[in-house]
Amino acid sequence: EGADFHQHTIRDGRRETSYTAFVKPVLHRRNLTVMRKTRVLRILVERGEATGVEILQGDRRHVIRARREIVVSAGSLNSPHLLMLSGIGEGRMLAAQGIAVARDLPGVGRNLQDHWFGPMIWEVTRGSSYNDALRGLGKYVEGVKYLLARRGLLALSVSASAVFARSSDALAQPDLQMVLRPVSYTFHPKGAVMVDGFPGVSAGVVLLNPGSRGHVSLRSPDPLAAPAFQPNYLSDPDDGRRTVLGLRRMREIMSRDPVAARVVAERLPGPAVQEDGALLEHIRAHGNCGWHQVGTCRMGRDALSVVDPRLRVHGIGRLRVADGSVMPTITSGNTNAPCIMIGEKAADMIRQDALPRRDTS
Ligand SMILES: Cc1cc2nc3c(=O)[nH]c(=O)nc-3n(C[C@H](O)[C@H](O)[C@H](O)COP(=O)(O)OP(=O)(O)OC[C@H]3O[C@@H](n4cnc5c(N)ncnc54)[C@H](O)[C@@H]3O)c2cc1C
Repeated sequence: EGADFHQHTIRDGRRETSYTAFVKPVLHRRNLTVMRKTRVLRILVERGEATGVEILQGDRRHVIRARREIVVSAGSLNSPHLLMLSGIGEGRMLAAQGIAVARDLPGVGRNLQDHWFGPMIWEVTRGSSYNDALRGLGKYVEGVKYLLARRGLLALSVSASAVFARSSDALAQPDLQMVLRPVSYTFHPKGAVMVDGFPGVSAGVVLLNPGSRGHVSLRSPDPLAAPAFQPNYLSDPDDGRRTVLGLRRMREIMSRDPVAARVVAERLPGPAVQEDGALLEHIRAHGNCGWHQVGTCRMGRDALSVVDPRLRVHGIGRLRVADGSVMPTITSGNTNAPCIMIGEKAADMIRQDALPRRDTS
C-alpha cells in the first residue's frame, strides 16, 4: 500500500517526550505545579463526585483537593489500576479485595490491546547495514560522536522505515505494518541487546488490528502493589494467521531486486522455517510486544465502556481519563502521537466544559 521513512519525535539527537515538548516550556505558569517523585495512590470519591487525590511523596501521604475536576492520565496499565483502587471497577472484584465500591463499572481494565511484533533478520552485503559501525572500535567512535555533537547513528531511531500492506485483497485498508531497520540485534536471556556479529538488517512484522484482548486486574488493595496484567497476545487465532502472512509478504519483498541483490541469507526465522505452524511458533517464541498498550478505560456508551465521548467517567462527576486507555480499538500504527492527540483534544473539551469551582476550604 505504501512504504516510507518513519516520522520521529527526535530533537537535538534525543527522543522528545511529551513532558519536554508540552510541560517544560510552561513550567513558569502560576497555575501549574509539577510534583516530582510523587505517586497518586487513589482518587477520593464522595457522593458520586471525585473530590481529590491521595498522594505519596517520599514516605508521606497527603490529600490534594480539586476545585474543578480530576483528569487521570496514568497510562493504559495504571489508569484502570488507579480507578479500581478508588472503588471504580467491577464491583465483585473490588469487594473481594475489600474496596468500597463507588461505581460498578465492569469495563475498567478490560479490552487491553497491544501490537505484537514478529521479528525477521537477514545477513546482507557489507555496506548494507549499520552493524559494522556499531561493533568493536566503531561503537566507541559513534559514542564519542553522539556525546560531543549529538550526531551519528546513536542520534537516529533504529526503526527507519515502514511498509503498510493488506493481508487480504478483500480488506479496505492495510492491516499489516513491516518496520524495517538497517541494523540487526539479538535479545539475550540476561537482558542485553547485542548488535549481531555480521552485517544484518531486520524487520518487525506487526498486525495492526489484533482481535486478541487482555485485561488488567487488581491483585491487592495496597496501592503500591502492582496490578495483574494479562495481555493474551495472539490468543485470537486470526492474529497469528495474519501475522504469518505478513512474514511471508516480507520474504517476498526481500527476494526482489533491488534489495535482493544485497541479501546474503535469511537468518531469522531462517529458510528452514516454512510451514504456517512453524512460522507462528517462531512469532510466539521470538516476538516482542510493541509497548502500545491501549483500551483499558474504553470510550463508549455501552455497559462495558468506562468514559463517555467527552472522556468523563460514567457515573462519577468531575472525573475524566485522558490517555491511551480511552481508545476503543488500537490505532493502525504507533500510539505515541495518537496519545498526544487525545491530550490535546481533552484540553479543548475541559476548557469548553469548564465546571464551576468548588469550595475546597
Ligand atoms: C519502551 C517504549 C517504547 C515506545 N516506543 C514508541 C515509539 O517508538 N513510537 C510510538 O508511537 N510509541 C511508542 N511507545 C508507546 C508510547 O510511548 C505510548 O503509547 C504513550 O506514551 C502512551 O501515553 P499515555 O499518556 O497513555 O501514557 P504514558 O505515556 O505511560 O503516561 C502515563 C504517566 O503516568 C505516570 N503514572 C502512572 N501511574 C501513576 C501514579 N499512580 N501516580 C503518578 N503518576 C503515575 C507514569 O509515570 C507516566 O509518566 C513506546 C512505549 C514504550 C514503553
